[in-house]
Amino acid sequence: MITQTTIHMVDLKGQYAKIKDQIDSAVLNCIESGAFINGPEVKRFSKNLEQYLGVNQVIPCANGTDALQIAMMGLGLEPGDEVIVPAFTYVATAEVIGLLGYVPVMVDVDPETFNIDITKIEAAITPKTRAIVPVHLFGQCADMDAIMEIAGKHNLYVIEDTAQAIGAIYTNKNGEKKAAGAVGHIGCTSFFPSKNLGCFGDGGALYTNDVTIGAKLQMIANHGQSQKYVHKYIGINSRLDTIQAAILDVKLQYLNDYCDARRTAAAYYDQALKDVPGVRTPIRSSQSTHVFHQYTLVIENGKRDGLKQYLQEKGIPSMVYYPIPLNEQEAFIKIGKVVGTLDVTYKLCASVLSLPMHTELNSSEQDFIVNAIKEYLK
Ligand SMILES: *Cc1c(COP(=O)(O)O)cnc(C)c1O
Repeated sequence: MITQTTIHMVDLKGQYAKIKDQIDSAVLNCIESGAFINGPEVKRFSKNLEQYLGVNQVIPCANGTDALQIAMMGLGLEPGDEVIVPAFTYVATAEVIGLLGYVPVMVDVDPETFNIDITKIEAAITPKTRAIVPVHLFGQCADMDAIMEIAGKHNLYVIEDTAQAIGAIYTNKNGEKKAAGAVGHIGCTSFFPSKNLGCFGDGGALYTNDVTIGAKLQMIANHGQSQKYVHKYIGINSRLDTIQAAILDVKLQYLNDYCDARRTAAAYYDQALKDVPGVRTPIRSSQSTHVFHQYTLVIENGKRDGLKQYLQEKGIPSMVYYPIPLNEQEAFIKIGKVVGTLDVTYKLCASVLSLPMHTELNSSEQDFIVNAIKEYLK
């Protein structure tokens, strides 16, 4: 029997319970060693993540927003330079652009994948454009072939915001497979607890295959320091705690299982919801696997908010990621630039609904959720 309190948007406690012994001993080990900053676990986790992702270098840092900021700082942009972002994303992507005095240039997203619409990018390119930041929203990669081609043609950097897509695999037009974040010049991710690879606090990382960029990013994350007390750049202080690295090193071993569990839950939702009128289940990209950071429906006919309320009354959590287009955020009205219409972004903000999605979700919980959706929309 499913009761009101049993369904969670994410279930970090249930996930922890299954690997408690391993996690507890990894954490205890850090505490006993006293190496809280830059302990051996940080290096070990970075190396293991490099191997998992197939990248040349992982630079750990304090959170995903810092990763994006460090990436921007590493590219040598000037104030007033423009960076193209999707208008439908989490704020952090554009925030760091504004923070550094660059201009976030917002374009619309694809109605099927919700990722940056590659047909809208070129119209947004000006002599001031320096970079594109595709966001692999909800767990599947943007069309990186097209983005890399446009970037190559216009000599732009590509920073992948892969905070929601760690573990996803992109297959390029030559059939080569690469990890999400390993296709562009720099990949940025977050280990926020609810992300697909989450720690027990804040954490983040950058990845790159470019040794020159990698060396600079590493310095910027550490006060611009090239060797102890020698500072080549203005940097920031952004470290991944040893305890968080130890936890992540344990959880990395399970990341593929976690991705599978999410995909299984997504497939179950797909099947159960496929014939419900007014509901559109997530559309898969042909180029990328989907790791379902979120399972996000489009609810047609203006019924989204009513459905959300109804679910809440039944004890079922759901979330709107994201309710407001970036360009409508007060913080961005003065500094941002919009190119083209944002019709899809506006429509999605008014109609998307993310259902409970996590590694511990079971089919009886999903039946309960799906039945409630059907009841409301019948
Ligand atoms: C979570 C997230 C971030 C920021 O990560 P933090 O670790 O919370 O700073 C950036 N971009 C996207 C798309 C995210 O989902």
